[in-house]
Amino acid sequence: MQNSKQAIHYSIKPIHPEAHLYEIRCEIARPNPAGQIVWLPAWIPGSYMIRDFAKNIISIQAESAQQSLSLQKLDKQRWQVEACTPPIQLIYTVYAWDMSVRTAHLDQTHGFFNGSSVFVAVQGQEDQPCSVDIQLPEGDAYVHWRVATGLARDAQTELFKSGRYLADDYDALIDHPVEMGNFSEAHFVLDDVPHHIVISGRHQTHMPRLLADVEKICRTHIDMFGELPVMERYVFLLTVVGEGYGGLEHRNSTALICSRKDLPHQNMDKPSDGYITLLGLFSHEYFHTWNVKRIKPASFIPYQLEQESYTTLLWAFEGITSYYDELGLVRSGVITEDDYLTLIGKNITRVMRGSGRLKQTLSESSFDAWTRFYKQDENAVNAIVSYYAKGGLFAFCLDTVIRQRSNQQHSLDDVMRQLWLQHGRPLKGVEYEDILTITHALCDDPVDDFFDEYLNSTRDLPLENCFANFAIELKWRTATSLDDAGGRSTKAAASHGFLGARFEAHPAGIKVLVVFDEGDIQQAGIASGDIIIALDGLKISKENLLDRLAIYQPGDQLEWHVFRRDELFTTKMSLSAAREDTAWLQCDNSHVSLKALRQQWLGTSSTD
Ligand code: ZN
Repeated sequence: MQNSKQAIHYSIKPIHPEAHLYEIRCEIARPNPAGQIVWLPAWIPGSYMIRDFAKNIISIQAESAQQSLSLQKLDKQRWQVEACTPPIQLIYTVYAWDMSVRTAHLDQTHGFFNGSSVFVAVQGQEDQPCSVDIQLPEGDAYVHWRVATGLARDAQTELFKSGRYLADDYDALIDHPVEMGNFSEAHFVLDDVPHHIVISGRHQTHMPRLLADVEKICRTHIDMFGELPVMERYVFLLTVVGEGYGGLEHRNSTALICSRKDLPHQNMDKPSDGYITLLGLFSHEYFHTWNVKRIKPASFIPYQLEQESYTTLLWAFEGITSYYDELGLVRSGVITEDDYLTLIGKNITRVMRGSGRLKQTLSESSFDAWTRFYKQDENAVNAIVSYYAKGGLFAFCLDTVIRQRSNQQHSLDDVMRQLWLQHGRPLKGVEYEDILTITHALCDDPVDDFFDEYLNSTRDLPLENCFANFAIELKWRTATSLDDAGGRSTKAAASHGFLGARFEAHPAGIKVLVVFDEGDIQQAGIASGDIIIALDGLKISKENLLDRLAIYQPGDQLEWHVFRRDELFTTKMSLSAAREDTAWLQCDNSHVSLKALRQQWLGTSSTD
């Protein structure tokens, strides 16, 4: 085993699952003679927010030849060890109690960690290979625990076992999350690469269904890019919880969290909405294997992990990925064309209901992700636009523009393939101009105008025109319920005026979560956090709100009783007419040639 131990060697062990503590040891064979500095990242690539992982280091000490060394803290995330004779060893404990894909978690049921939360970087030696011994907790309760990670194993370490793992450099070390516990595992093989799905948490997943669907999605993405990047295996680490959703991409793995109800069960025939969302998450993170893990913004090479790394291009790395995560579902056949159009209808509804789209461009949204998209408050719908949701719609429009301007010879698929060949495979960072140049080369007419107009201004996307290319009509209707998110609906429209708010049930009435600009609720002076208890003198609830509103006409005066904090007040509101703010899409199958283009786009060439 000694031969695979590198000059920087870590070990990690859950020393006290009940207290959520990992102990990490870091041996540095050749420390800086002037005093070695070590540091922990402030953020994790893929999640653009300063999280200051070093705050979870509970205790830290350094030693050399069993002699304690002094350790000076330089700032919130850096320490300097006193000059001494090598080697040196750092010993520290990390508190791990965040059930998310971004940091670390540990209890009696499982352990999960990202390297960015637990492994200090050795300043000046970040490009050096390193090894890590991943150990299990001691005790009878843990003898059946296994280890799942995309990290390379040394020759002695068996698949899913504790032991020694290897990384080419610090960037690789922190790009392989690790799960340990009693998980379920199954796999499929694509292009000779095993793809493991590891599930932890209580669940009764119908594994054959999940494997078959995820395999089809992965196949679709590989075929579009032309090849799978070189890797030994790919690992999906899925944690199942009661309520939760999230994913974070890595070079040959991804960490996912989902709600138990969204998993497929053995009696499921047509995929549920929740399962479609989950498949979209698998699809999204797998697409990132190319787009953002290898085709990267130039400003991410290398990542600046000690502070924010700015880019105006998240619309390309998250927006285009969002477009293809849903397109991959219909192209692979795991959802129908109708299901797909429902998803797009919801995306359009989400973007168009928020007036934030009129205040922030996609480039600005990308640049300000750190403080705005990732730190959303109750006013986000009125202040910012999502580079995921609007970025995905931009990608769709760009796809149709490329098809038009290349006389149907090329599409966004070709742009992605060229980005892979020119930037991803050689790991050459992407600038805005590179995307323009690649797109321009595929089109007969220039495309700069399209990019500039829709990325650098707040003009609404030309969705109607773009859908018309595929004989799809973008239609608008009023919402049919308080939670109506868009897409085709067979329910009758609710005649409830236009409140312009999102609510949740509250024991005393209705809690206001979000207030949209220029809706009736805002005009009435009702704010986020307020509890509405009565409408025209009668108690109100989220369940009866629409029925209560159904008796009024636009222009009627309504009186609300509202608590703001502990202060009761009364306010009057004039009910405005219901707005058609809910999008859905309808196909016109009488256009044979356009229908053929639609089928080509969606990969649904068989009869429908
Ligand atoms: Zn993403």
